[in-house]
Amino acid sequence: MPGSGNKFVLMILLAIFLAAAVASATPLSMQHEKPHPVTAKSKIILQKPAKLVIIIDPGHGGNDPGAISESGLKEKNITLQYAKNLRALLAKNAKYKVFLTRTKDVYVGLKERTVKARDLHADLFISLHADINPDAKVRGLSVYTLSSAAAADEMEKLDNQPDKASALGHLDLSRENKDAKDVVIDLVQSENRNASAKFAEVVVHELGGQARLLGHSHRFAGYVVLTGIDVPSVLIELGYLSNKYEEKMLVKPDYRKKLAGALAHAVDVYFRK
Ligand SMILES: [Zn+2]
Repeated sequence: MPGSGNKFVLMILLAIFLAAAVASATPLSMQHEKPHPVTAKSKIILQKPAKLVIIIDPGHGGNDPGAISESGLKEKNITLQYAKNLRALLAKNAKYKVFLTRTKDVYVGLKERTVKARDLHADLFISLHADINPDAKVRGLSVYTLSSAAAADEMEKLDNQPDKASALGHLDLSRENKDAKDVVIDLVQSENRNASAKFAEVVVHELGGQARLLGHSHRFAGYVVLTGIDVPSVLIELGYLSNKYEEKMLVKPDYRKKLAGALAHAVDVYFRK
């Protein structure tokens, strides 16, 4: 079993332990009526499939072209080509099960993409983009993970949902009480942000040898596709279509193979750690 899987199990055990501690420390008067006791025999179900599930998300599509270069090159087509190339490379490894959020030129909503990753119990979500920069001179690849401010917003939104725990794909918390759910969800989100950052660092390291990187290559943002609570997620800006050189490079099959190869290798390294 890969390291991340072991870590995940450890994290869940820790979460259950802490949840039990919270439940037992909460005065009865503060608990809901007929609280469901959280014990070591808790009915939390680990529903991990045996293979590592990787979701590749080609940015934009359909009536959303994404960025358009001066020469008319559309981001949605670049991202789909890179996604298919990456999928072909990863699919060679029997350990992986790879899905694309779209395989054609169709529109898929942003939230829908993260929901798909959650429903498939994904172990990794990689969103691919090639946007424009207001400064045409700027070029270089960058990797985004969810910012702490966006993570806090996401938790606040979840607090207002009747079934907060439905945001988790790996765990069934439906029988746990609210305090236990809160502790587990907080832990899962924080562990998930760590895992996302770890993958981002691997990507920066692996792709740094193949392509020019933007300064501060690992960046933080509140992109909707990064908001999955329990799926480590990154958004990769492969380059800028606003930069003449990068526009030329991004359509070259050799460059695509090189970047997709380095990305596939980054995935291997991440799961080995
Ligand atoms: Zn984009």
